[in-house]
Amino acid sequence: MTDNKEFNITEITRIRPTIEFFLGCNPVHNNVTESNVLENTLKTAVNMGFVDENGKSKIDRVFMYNPDAIGMWIYKKHREIFKPLEVITQVREDILTVFPPVTPVCFGSMYTGMKPENHGILKYEKPVLKIDTIFDFLPSTGKKAAIVCTQGDSIAEIFKGRNIDYFIYPTIDECNKQAEELINSDNHDLIVLYNGNYDYYMHRFTPEGKKSLQELRKNIDTYCKLQKLISEKWKEHKTFLAFAPDHGCHRSIFPPGNHGKYIPKDMNTVHFYSFV
Ligand SMILES: [Zn+2]
Repeated sequence: MTDNKEFNITEITRIRPTIEFFLGCNPVHNNVTESNVLENTLKTAVNMGFVDENGKSKIDRVFMYNPDAIGMWIYKKHREIFKPLEVITQVREDILTVFPPVTPVCFGSMYTGMKPENHGILKYEKPVLKIDTIFDFLPSTGKKAAIVCTQGDSIAEIFKGRNIDYFIYPTIDECNKQAEELINSDNHDLIVLYNGNYDYYMHRFTPEGKKSLQELRKNIDTYCKLQKLISEKWKEHKTFLAFAPDHGCHRSIFPPGNHGKYIPKDMNTVHFYSFV
């Protein structure tokens, strides 16, 4: 499989400007923050009428579903598991994450639009970011954002202290239930939901272990359910919904699954996007 020898090209830093553009904001900030919107995603949005012919976005809701550690090679090798996701999404972006491919570094880049040397998280540590992130910028333009995350996990830690709503729980089930309630209450322009279950099992039972793949199925099922709920509850809105992991993973000796190396298995991940 040649895929395993190649690195993806599209950088994970492009998620922030894409979200901001879709929410009607100018994504140009400074010379270290990525401002280029994902082209293929934008093209699809135009074709589907979610961005008009003058390049103005009609989207007013963004839902980011962030499952942890799902690599591009897992998608290529286990296509049948991803089938329900492929059926309901309109865009696939093959994403190159940042080095080192560990959770706080990668989500740091996804939501600041900056490379690690600019956002400052260079290894597995979870300091509260002191720089401008999407969670600073959106509230400054009057937009409401919410983070739904399990206690102590990267997204819950590094984006603390912003003028946004935090829903932090001990379990993933509580998080996912809360996300459904947020869709029902329809109060936020951006919702970010983190699920670390595949990462947890992958480290213990290898990336393709039976239990790990079961958790992967759960992530895909969760996304499908969220999309269904959004299509029912947010009829008045135009929504950009994303299945957006942070990095990939590889099989190792101890622990049985790991990530953090500059190899395609760890650096390449895959995103799926829906326009609802
Ligand atoms: Zn991760």
